[in-house]
Amino acid sequence: MAPKKHSGFMMFVNEWRNRNAEGRRMTLAQAVAHCGSIWEKMTVQQRGPYNSGAKDADVMERGKRERLNCHGQGVSQVDQAQREAAESLMNMKRSTERIVIDAKKSHDLENTKFVFAAFNFFTKALTTDVYVPAEFAACEYSLKEGIKSIYSTLIDPGHIIFGQGSDALHHSSTTHNLPLPPNALGENNMGKLYRNIVDYLTKCQGDQLVVFTPAENISMVKSCFQYLACEDENDCRDGGQKIQVFDIQYLLFILKKEVLDIAGLPDENINKYVTDAFFGRDFFEFTPEIGCQYHEENDRTKYCTQSMVTRWAYTFSDFMCGDLAITVKPGKHIPPKTKPNYRIIQSDTSSLAQESSFDSFYSLPGSRVKNETQSRDTSPTGSKYSVASSSYAPADHTAFTADLNEVREFPSLGRRHPSGRCTAAAGASAESERTTRAWNLPKHSRPLQKFTDNDFSVTGAGKKNQK
Ligand SMILES: [Zn+2]
Repeated sequence: MAPKKHSGFMMFVNEWRNRNAEGRRMTLAQAVAHCGSIWEKMTVQQRGPYNSGAKDADVMERGKRERLNCHGQGVSQVDQAQREAAESLMNMKRSTERIVIDAKKSHDLENTKFVFAAFNFFTKALTTDVYVPAEFAACEYSLKEGIKSIYSTLIDPGHIIFGQGSDALHHSSTTHNLPLPPNALGENNMGKLYRNIVDYLTKCQGDQLVVFTPAENISMVKSCFQYLACEDENDCRDGGQKIQVFDIQYLLFILKKEVLDIAGLPDENINKYVTDAFFGRDFFEFTPEIGCQYHEENDRTKYCTQSMVTRWAYTFSDFMCGDLAITVKPGKHIPPKTKPNYRIIQSDTSSLAQESSFDSFYSLPGSRVKNETQSRDTSPTGSKYSVASSSYAPADHTAFTADLNEVREFPSLGRRHPSGRCTAAAGASAESERTTRAWNLPKHSRPLQKFTDNDFSVTGAGKKNQK
């Protein structure tokens, strides 16, 4: 709302009331009516001081008001919020670096424990950062030992935010597929759950409770901890601030840098974009049997928090254990069962020899193999593999030449074969080629290099060339 402007007349009324005892006894309306008649008789010069006074008051008022940005928020407030966000980000980065570098200094980076944590939520409040949690998992991880322990639970918050049932249903059905309250599964005592989580984290880390989660989820995870802490009488005061939530991708970057340094392989090219891309690839996304029971049964392990924290641990191991020459243990550093599609097929198994390793098959000496090669060309995969094979005799590119001779196959060349003498002959030869095998070229077909552009044109030049 635009602020009310001061008027010279009202300045005059106020002054008059202050000066006259009679004026002080009048109401404002009476004083205005009385002064109106006086104001009318005043000259411009007499009114001047009051009008300029009103203008001064306007200017002073404007100076006092706060400047707003285009969203109607105070500029100084927005600035402060930005400064605080930048500060907390810097604080998070410094703390992460300190954890890693302290561990490196004490020559214990391999055994340093990190806790990864993830939440699923049912719904988020429209205007504030309040999330209603649905599932929680945390895992204790070190490079040396891999996953040491996992804490995983479904959460039944009892109710969701009023009016957001549809949003919650949509979010659930497109991601974790957990049933909404009142049918939600799992722990329904938030205070107890919060104490259990704090106990678990304390057991893992001591007094300094730090969990790592991807950057885009940090505010959600913080908010979910606050949601749980609110119900706990003892921890209500700190509002869930006891647990710090840091960026797991930044940890991966710092850790990788230090690991390479320890291993004596410092790499200038390693930067946050590289490590972020590695993390984002989520190589273990389809690993079976690492989610909770509910999500394994519902085939939504991708969104299961237990599966997520496990996958992050696998990603860390996959990225760094090799540098430190740590032997990876199935179930700790890598998935417990490796699916056959990750495995290299053994070429010496006779039943698999034909499909598994064409290279070794072709590298055998003797013409017998080449004959077989030609006969295999009829199969769609045969030619593909023969090109890939290094020892394959390069003589047999006839399949390619035959295609070139098939003039009808060039759609951009227009009407070549139905009209003109030369095109009729070419058409006929193409016809005969099509009926024969690719490598069995007719005698009159010209070598490939003698083709010119004119051969493929529809103008008279082509005919001249033919003669
Ligand atoms: Zn789950």
